[in-house]
Parts: sequence; structure tokens; C-alpha cells
Amino acid sequence: MGETILILGGGTAGVAAANVLADVLPSGYQLVLVDRIPVHLFLASLPLLIVGRRRPQQLTRALSLLQGRGLRFIQTEVEGLDLPHRVALTTAGSLSYDKLIVALGAERVEDHLPGQKEWAFNPFSWQEAQALRERLARLRSGRLVLFISSLPFTGEVAPYEIMLLLHDYYRRRGLRRQIELVLITPEERPFSFAPPQISKQTEELLSDAGIRLLAGRSVQGISKAGEVLLDGGRLPADLVLAIPHHQVPACLRGSPLVGAEGWVEVDPRSLETRWPGVYALGDVVGIKLPTGHWLPKVGFFAHYQAEVAARNLALLLSGKDAAFQFLGGAAGASMLTAFRRGCFVSLNAYANPPAMTVSRPNPFAYLLKTIFEKYWLTAWF
Ligand SMILES: Cc1cc2nc3c(=O)[nH]c(=O)nc-3n(C[C@H](O)[C@H](O)[C@H](O)COP(=O)(O)OP(=O)(O)OC[C@H]3O[C@@H](n4cnc5c(N)ncnc54)[C@H](O)[C@@H]3O)c2cc1C
Repeated sequence: MGETILILGGGTAGVAAANVLADVLPSGYQLVLVDRIPVHLFLASLPLLIVGRRRPQQLTRALSLLQGRGLRFIQTEVEGLDLPHRVALTTAGSLSYDKLIVALGAERVEDHLPGQKEWAFNPFSWQEAQALRERLARLRSGRLVLFISSLPFTGEVAPYEIMLLLHDYYRRRGLRRQIELVLITPEERPFSFAPPQISKQTEELLSDAGIRLLAGRSVQGISKAGEVLLDGGRLPADLVLAIPHHQVPACLRGSPLVGAEGWVEVDPRSLETRWPGVYALGDVVGIKLPTGHWLPKVGFFAHYQAEVAARNLALLLSGKDAAFQFLGGAAGASMLTAFRRGCFVSLNAYANPPAMTVSRPNPFAYLLKTIFEKYWLTAWF
């Protein structure tokens, strides 16, 4: 039996890494993918699911389908890592590896604030997004508040997409005048890692849609009466959506891979950890930009990081030098602003200061996102 490459996590980064490795690995290596759930979830389309434009089954793929590509999929919970012995500890037993890719994403904590679990929906949860869809359909008047619990969180565009889609959703149903939409963020301005012009553009998008933005405000909890408790005030609400606190998965807490700021530390260009033969990708990783902001936790970076790490690993295992670098940039992403409209987004996060552009809303950016969704769920599975 040849050496084993173990990938922990079948989300964006894990699935991309598994596919690339299946293509480029020299023969004789075993490729094993592990996830606690049997399916891959396309999280970027959750905002469309919430407003009834997608059905859940349209956005999932069985991870076992990847076995057709020559790898082994094991559904099990990762409980920890024994790095010196190159073993992942799981509920299905110990899994040995020669090279390891950690792509376990970020853990979302739904009870971080008092009352959050009881009184708020988590729009980033697959299950709750479906329940939320039913609740939104029943809401005919009142105040809907969405708040971001803490920074960093995954999918930087998602809170803005959700609110802009909800504006469009209630407008189409003739209820928009009866429903107040409020977005609360602890960031001093939207996309605070980006140039101020991008924040201004985003604020204008929200204001044109009549969405009230409370920036630089932190939520302390939710009362039984449905009030959102803010630093220095309370805001009564009829429906609350809480983007949970994000943290490194429990199975990695205390691991030497995790740095002082609570996320897995990697070389920002090669995605190698300090531990030989161990790479980490996607949301589980914390990369601090020179400005002090976090590299956004977004799927397009998770994808590019996976391409870089997988291709370099294959080169190294073939006795060649690593040739690829993650450059912190992406073009051709989009942020939805309504059903059938969106803005093109490009980002160069490793520039100092980081550069970002956001186009005016247009139908092509929406189309791009839906084509990408289809591509992702077809090309990899
Ligand atoms: C609502 C929403 C909208 C978004 N929109 C966009 C967008 O428009 N554009 C964009 O680029 N990004 C977007 N993102 C962000 C993007 O989805 C993430 O950045 C990306 O999924 C990160 O990939 P990952 O592989 O690191 O983590 P994930 O995709 O979260 O995958 C982690 C995997 O690890 C598994 N796992 C975790 N712990 C364990 C364990 N202990 N044992 C076994 N398995 C485990 C999980 O089940 C999961 O399958 C969005 C995110 C959300 C939530």
C-alpha cells in the first residue's frame, strides 16, 4: 500500500482538494476524505434557499459520489489529531496518514449570546434556513432584524445578500411597506477590510432598498420579548436572524496547529502549517492581513487555496519543487442584490492596502453566480 493523503472536511476546500488530487497525484497513493455528514452543502446559495428560490436538494451532493474518482470517503466525526504519530482520531477509530489536509471549516456557535438559540434563526444553518423560509412566508408586517454576532464570520457578502434579497422578496409580495429591515454589524463599516469607497457603495445599496444599517454596534443578547439588546439600547423585533459567532472546530482546540488568535496558522502563500506534511485550507485558517483585518473567509479563497495546496503536494510527491502560490486575489465573484440581479466583486486581499471592486447591480452578475453554482455541483461530482 502506498502513502495515504487524508483530507478532513468535505466542504468547499476539501472537495476541491480531493478532486484536484484525484487528477494530479502520482499513482500508488491512497486518497481518503472524511466528513461527519454524508453530503456536500453548497452554502453560497443558502440566501436563495431562504427566499424560496432554491429547494434544499438542489444544493447538495452525496460525498460518496467522489468514490468514482478513486478516493475513499468515510463518514465519521473527527475528534482530534495526534500530530506526532500522524493519526486523526475519529468516532470510527484512528486514521493514519502520511500527508494531511485540514479543511474542517469554522464552527458556528448558536448559543454564544443569551437568548440567541431560543429566539433567533441562524440563516447560516442548513436546517434552520429551511425553517426560516417558512417563517418568512408567514411574516406580513413588523420589524425584521439581522445581526452579525462577531468577527470574523464566513461568507462576507451573505448578510448583505440576505437583506437585499428579503427587500426584493417582500416587495414582490406587496408587503415591503409593512416590513422594516434592519441590519446590525459590529464592523465600523461594511467590508471594513476594503477601501472606504466599497463600504459607501454597500451603504448606498442598502439605503436605496430602505434597509437600515446599524454599523459598529454589538448585540448583547435577545430578550424573551423579542428585543435585540444592543450596547446602549434595545430594539424590539418581530423576527430576528443571528449570524452566529465563528470559531475553530472543537476537535482542533488545543492543537499546536492553532495560533494565539484562535485559528489554524499557515504560510499565507503555500497553506502549509508549521507541522511538516500538514496543510490547512478555507475557513479553518486565520490569515491576518497587514492592515490587521482577517483574510475574508469566502468560498472562492477556499477553492483557490485547495488548488494551490493539492497541486504543490502532487509535485512534491513526484520529487519536484512546489510551483504554486495562493495570491489572495479573486475576480468574477458576485453578490446578489435581488432575484435576477447582482454586483460583480473582485478582490486583491494581499495588496497593501487590500483592493476591492464592486460593480453596479446588473443581471449578468446574478447569472454568473447561478452558473457557478451549477458548475460547482456538476464538475466536482
Ligand atoms: C450563507 C452563506 C453564504 C455564503 N456565500 C458565499 C459567496 O457568495 N461566495 C463565497 O465565496 N463564499 C460564500 N460563503 C462562504 C463559503 O461557503 C465558505 O467560505 C466555504 O464553504 C469554506 O469552505 P471550507 O471547506 O473551509 O468549510 P466548509 O465548506 O464549511 O466545510 C467544512 C466541512 O467540514 C466538516 N466538518 C466540520 N467539523 C467536522 C468534524 N469534527 N468531523 C468531520 N467533519 C467535520 C463539515 O461537515 C463540512 O462539510 C458563504 C457562506 C454561507 C454560510
